[in-house]
Amino acid sequence: MSALLNLLPHRLSQRLTALYFTVSSFSLQRRPQTTQTTAMASMTVTKIPALKDNFMYLLVCNATRQAAVVDPVEPDRVLEVAREQGCQLNQLLTTHHHWDHAGGNEALCARYRENPAWGELSVYGGDDDRIGGLTHRVRQDDTFTVGRLRVRCLSTPCHTTSHICYYVQGAEDGDGPGAVFTGDTLFLAGCGRFFEGTPQQMYDALIGQLSSLPDETRVYCGHEYAVQNLRFGATVEPDNADTRALLEQAQQADLEGRRALVPSTIGQEKRINVFMRVHQPTVQAFVDRTTPLDTMQALRAAKDKF
Ligand SMILES: [Zn+2]
Repeated sequence: MSALLNLLPHRLSQRLTALYFTVSSFSLQRRPQTTQTTAMASMTVTKIPALKDNFMYLLVCNATRQAAVVDPVEPDRVLEVAREQGCQLNQLLTTHHHWDHAGGNEALCARYRENPAWGELSVYGGDDDRIGGLTHRVRQDDTFTVGRLRVRCLSTPCHTTSHICYYVQGAEDGDGPGAVFTGDTLFLAGCGRFFEGTPQQMYDALIGQLSSLPDETRVYCGHEYAVQNLRFGATVEPDNADTRALLEQAQQADLEGRRALVPSTIGQEKRINVFMRVHQPTVQAFVDRTTPLDTMQALRAAKDKF
């Protein structure tokens, strides 16, 4: 479907995608899906399931109660969770333009215009006219704050040309692990499809940028794909005990249990995610390649057919 959508005018493809996601997630929309909250020293992250298998995230600075939302495709649900938590939500972070991530931007902006008492909503995202409501076009290494939390933008083009990951740290260096919101670049045990980029770009994103974050960094990804990704990982590396253990856990879990596997960590991804392990001889051997870059390309092609 995605290849076809890339050929259509943007507005039309956004409408068709909206229709697709609305129909495919209809049965799940009848009751709010369960949120899961992780409290860290300086920040609290609430994972809010959306549509069929997407995640939206509410990021709150513990010290100031100021908050940002990542990819609010269901804006009313986000506002409900923000109200429950008593936080001040004035920032929206967009990972990329696809409808299941950015499709709620304009509706959330409209709610803020209708309710001036809430203050302004700043909308961050890559420099791309396909993203609705943008007020802050960000680039590699741009920084801003959410309360006292420090956010650094990582440009990770490949899934889309303007994809951004957001790396968040506490105000002080001793504030414990940071968090990275990876959209459709890095998933638990997987990575996004290369719709608008090259294997080199995904290599730069996964190996150059994300692998160099501290191992304890929490990884908040855009979708719940644990079982499919881990099954592929176990096929590529049947002797990887970490992958086998996590796959067993994922297969035994119900939907809520699988969602609880997110956040992953950068350290865990380096142990189980074959796309972050393209230097490993075991991974290279599976696709019969000898360089990390060729391995990245061949692995993605193999996963697309898996
Ligand atoms: Zn996407």
